[in-house]
Amino acid sequence: MQLVEGVLEGEPRAIARAISMVEDGAPGLEDLSAGLFPHTGRARTIGLTGSPGVGKSTLAGELVRAARERDLSVAVLAIDPTSPFTGGALLGDRLRMQAHATDPGVFIRSMATRGHLGGMALAAPEAVRILDAAGRDLVIVETVGVGQAEVDVAAATDTTLVVVAPGWGDHVQVAKAGILEIADVFVVNKADREGVEAAVRDLRQMIRMGAQAPWTPPVVQTAAATGEGTEELWDAIEEHRAHLEETGALEAGRRSRLVREVESLTAERLRGEMRRLLAADRELADALAARRVDPYRAAAILMQRAPAGPA
Ligand code: GDP
Repeated sequence: MQLVEGVLEGEPRAIARAISMVEDGAPGLEDLSAGLFPHTGRARTIGLTGSPGVGKSTLAGELVRAARERDLSVAVLAIDPTSPFTGGALLGDRLRMQAHATDPGVFIRSMATRGHLGGMALAAPEAVRILDAAGRDLVIVETVGVGQAEVDVAAATDTTLVVVAPGWGDHVQVAKAGILEIADVFVVNKADREGVEAAVRDLRQMIRMGAQAPWTPPVVQTAAATGEGTEELWDAIEEHRAHLEETGALEAGRRSRLVREVESLTAERLRGEMRRLLAADRELADALAARRVDPYRAAAILMQRAPAGPA
């Protein structure tokens, strides 16, 4: 497959096309995935999540700068799972990375799902693998907000950063979205603003209450707009990486994420198949409606009819 070759050679146009295929759930996706998968697993991945406006894009720009200073090639995937139509607009409007626009070591792409079965939670990991196979040393996945889909996407990385800002009532958001569990590093951005100490204190308290050995997420203060704290954040990310490698959690985490992904993929396919079978069987629907067949029995009947899958 020519596209596979292009991606493996790191051609930006091939990468862009491959990601569009993922967004669309286009035919050929399976061949693309099969061709690229053996070449993945090398990139380090970082997820960035937090409420809109806390400074995720600005921080992503800072991380790109820090990576480039270390001669690492970078890709940024900006994801908005709630809006299938944002497309390219997200980038121009939200990603403040003009400084990197002409650097071939930096690939920036926004992503929405248009037709991918299973939505963003399944599309995003495939897009990350494309960037990984393309030879990017670091892939940063940035999500727009803290909805469940976004949390899932951000958590599907080696190191997940949860970003808050002083005075946003973020601790409430953090508690609500179950974000405490997914955070490997907390970032209190806009540290130049008032209330930063209170935000740090609140977070530390929440972390203590939900303490999860063996890794306690550090709380790092940044002022992304001025670059303050970027080095400390980079160090925290490196420490987490070292922890993952030393404990074997890197491989274990990747393995369980892949297994969960396959679980979701098969579930999506089965769901589609069951819907089709059920829609085609008026008699079964009638029997259900007339209360001649109960839902459990109907489900068992459908399961028996499901094809064993392509040979
Ligand atoms: P996102 O929606 O989380 O991606 O946030 P953005 O990166 O788009 O930033 C939202 C706004 O906050 C922009 O106007 C940024 O310039 C500003 N901003 C980002 N970081 C900082 C910071 O450290 N301090 C201050 N005062 N403003 C910041």
